Amino acid sequence: MTMVVGLTGGIGSGKTTVANLFAQYGIDLIDADVIAREVVAPGSEGLIAIELKLGADILLTDGQLNRSKLRELIFSQPRLKSWLDELLHPLIRQRMLTKIDNSQSAYCLLVIPLMVENNLQSLAHRLLVVDVEESVQIERTLQRDLVSEEQVKNILAAQASRKERNAAADDIISNNGDSSALPDKVAQLHHHYLELSQRYQ
Ligand code: ATP
Repeated sequence: MTMVVGLTGGIGSGKTTVANLFAQYGIDLIDADVIAREVVAPGSEGLIAIELKLGADILLTDGQLNRSKLRELIFSQPRLKSWLDELLHPLIRQRMLTKIDNSQSAYCLLVIPLMVENNLQSLAHRLLVVDVEESVQIERTLQRDLVSEEQVKNILAAQASRKERNAAADDIISNNGDSSALPDKVAQLHHHYLELSQRYQ
């Protein structure tokens, strides 16, 4: 069995930055955002079910899911959101488990932005949280994305609080400072995880 380290954190906290540092040690990354797109790729069970429910109008001319149209529909039809969650969550979960099974590295990193919110900690043996002050989250997200401060604050309000997330953590990387501090922090955790992973082999 491969040891699974869950990696989570709020919007703009630095999950991707931290995950990429682990990848430099050859650790397999399993990314929930990537999987959420794979389960609705053309030809997938997920997309076929969505097309059956909503008609071919929900597809773009190249056969991909029209995400912005789906977002609009969900916004005006809350029951559609529940239907979609019931369809996609098991598909996403199954695909994560398959990727964990196929992982060849000493341990793998399961990156799930809403891990605490969706109560998915049980998928991982250990939870690593990337923690930053809210003001830093807002500043970095505004620098990275074309969004307003109000939009970022709304997203923050819909996510778990720092307190809730940190309470669920086994390990916390604080990312308030300069990113040059991250490689050493990741190196220390990596060595710790390598030791722990021997229990799972
Ligand atoms: P999201 O969940 O919103 O996609 P994330 O948690 O994956 O975000 P990143 O994309 O890794 O976060 O980081 C957010 C932004 O902040 C990026 O532009 C990244 O380059 C930058 N960043 C990350 N860590 C630091 C740091 N310590 N100092 C300055 N900028 C940073």
